[in-house]
Amino acid sequence: MGVSARLGRPGTTPARILHAMTANLLDYDLEGLAAFCGQLGEKRFRATQLFRWIHQKGATDFDQMTDLAKSLREKLAGAAHIQGLNPVSRHDSADGTIKWLFDVGAGDVIETVFIPEADRGTLCISSQAGCAVGCRFCSTGHQGFSRNLTTAEIIGQLWYAEHFLRKHLGKTERVISNVVMMGMGEPLQNYAQLLPALRMMLDDHGYGLSRRRVTVSTSGVVPMMDRLAQDCPVALAVSLHAPEDELRSNLVPLNKKYPIAELLEACTRYQAAAPRDFITFEYCMLDGVNDQPEHARMLVELMRKHSLQGLACKFNLIPFNPFPASGLKRSDMAQVLAFAKILMDAGIVTTVRKTRGDDIDAACGQLAGDVQDRTGVQQRMATQRQGMLKGIKIVSREVGV
Ligand code: SAH
Ligand code: SF4
Repeated sequence: MGVSARLGRPGTTPARILHAMTANLLDYDLEGLAAFCGQLGEKRFRATQLFRWIHQKGATDFDQMTDLAKSLREKLAGAAHIQGLNPVSRHDSADGTIKWLFDVGAGDVIETVFIPEADRGTLCISSQAGCAVGCRFCSTGHQGFSRNLTTAEIIGQLWYAEHFLRKHLGKTERVISNVVMMGMGEPLQNYAQLLPALRMMLDDHGYGLSRRRVTVSTSGVVPMMDRLAQDCPVALAVSLHAPEDELRSNLVPLNKKYPIAELLEACTRYQAAAPRDFITFEYCMLDGVNDQPEHARMLVELMRKHSLQGLACKFNLIPFNPFPASGLKRSDMAQVLAFAKILMDAGIVTTVRKTRGDDIDAACGQLAGDVQDRTGVQQRMATQRQGMLKGIKIVSREVGV
């Protein structure tokens, strides 16, 4: 059962008004902070000190930064502030998973999830308030899109969670070892704000995470996959969900713009820069929609074809996490395992994702937050809902597979 803590909502205080006029230092990666310090006439090593205070020690007040000269602290206080996120609630799952809702203003609430495991602590971060891609099986997609999160709001989720957890668990060393950009939103449709946040995660003066332990998950924004490979090649997960274009376009509308062949070619290019020597493909198992043996066999064929161009893959099957508006059902475990067996028999490494935080709606695709839909996605989804499955081929379940 989930323990829920309702936390205070921020108001429009004089401090908030003052903050709107000065720079939020959570927006800057180390290069950005060095440039900012340069404008104040300060040397680069001051930026490094400041960066460590903010990210490694969780400081919010320049007066805490005792190894900075008082004159510099005063200068900073006049020109900058450190504004983290405001949690509105926290839900603790029986399995240790923690979900936070953060108020990002103007009626938008985003979600962040911490998933503890024996050998790692993973934080699942949101990149947008809502999402404009509008995947059929995703609760965020059904909410519509409000706005891109700022860099400060993206890194602010890690900053808040890491320092909260250290206190909460009584630890002095790092608690979060892995980050997955698998919360609300399509990270590669918010590239400009995402990039500095990724750099802060990797920076040894920041969170010092390994590239292999920071994963960007994308529904397939091909040009931005190429940019990411150049700018900051972290681990990549690609949400595939179907072995052929008609079905994929129905489930992931972005497929009409970047169809499967183009997407897999981009994956092969990405692999040359990637910190892991394979790309992870996520595949949400939807009962009677994309979970039949025939779909698995088509996937094997597809991967075989692209492996000739050098693509190496791993599959992660995600049992669908249902929500009422979707009109879709989770494949049962026998179906998921039969599907996995076909992939594995063909030599494809395949895992089935464990569902965590079920009791607090913190599982993949259940993150809905509460966003102001400014693009009409919600409206379109609602009108489509009745005939929603019309375009999707629902096949009858084969018995005994
Ligand atoms: N926009 C990005 C990242 C966020 S979604 C993307 O689509 O990859 C993170 C993962 O959750 C994706 O693989 C997505 O397909 C999956 N997902 C979305 N809704 C889901 C649901 N209801 N059940 C299971 N997985 C879901
Ligand atoms: Fe957006 Fe990803 Fe959800 Fe699709 S699955 S609607 S891309 S968050």
